[in-house]
Order: sequence, then structure tokens, then C-alpha cells
Amino acid sequence: MSEIDFEKIGLKVGLEIHQQLDTKKKLFCKCRPIESDEYTEKFSRSLRTAKSELGKLDPAALFEKTKSKKINYYANSQSSCLVEKDEEPPHDLDHDAKKISLLSKNYACFPRRKSKGR
Ligand SMILES: [Zn+2]
Repeated sequence: MSEIDFEKIGLKVGLEIHQQLDTKKKLFCKCRPIESDEYTEKFSRSLRTAKSELGKLDPAALFEKTKSKKINYYANSQSSCLVEKDEEPPHDLDHDAKKISLLSKNYACFPRRKSKGR
């Protein structure tokens, strides 16, 4: 088995984590997040590339777009709208959902210290 020189080939790997938070509304729309295994809708989307906050296009996303794949999604109509179907732009951020997501981000990035005596 040959070894791959990841630096030589310029490999970059990213990890995207999704987590459902205990909010009354979703971050980018007014839908109520619900936990359900009941999927009343099925829709498909093509990958759409968008510039990052830094104004750059992600090369990996550009590559994936050349494959012209359709991705199937299953959703519950009580907790899903045109924003998730990519048929409507994201709405203004929900203030409470933003606050909770920022608190969760800080918690995830800075693990708690182990307290002495435990
Ligand atoms: Zn929605």
C-alpha cells in the first residue's frame, strides 16, 4: 500500500456539524423546530454555490457542483418551509435562536476544565 503525501497533494478537510438546539424558532426562518420521525414532504435540490463570509467560493463546492447531483431531502411540513427548500432566501436571524446558537458554540469550543476533587 502506498502512502499519500497529504501536504503534497494539498488535501484540505473540513467538518460541518449540525445540531438541533432548543429554540422556539429556527435561526433563518420562523419555523418551529420539532423532533419527529414523520416526514410528510420529499423534495430535491441541486447544490448551489455561494460565497463565504470572506467573499470566496469554496473550491470543493465548485467541484461538487460539476457533478450535477440532486440531493433528496425528507421533511416534516410543520417544521419546514421554502427557506429549507432553497426556494426563498434566508430570513433575518431570529434573535433568540442566534443567542442560543452563539452560547452553544462557545460551550462547544471551550471545553470545561475538570474541577479538582471530582
Ligand atoms: Zn422554515
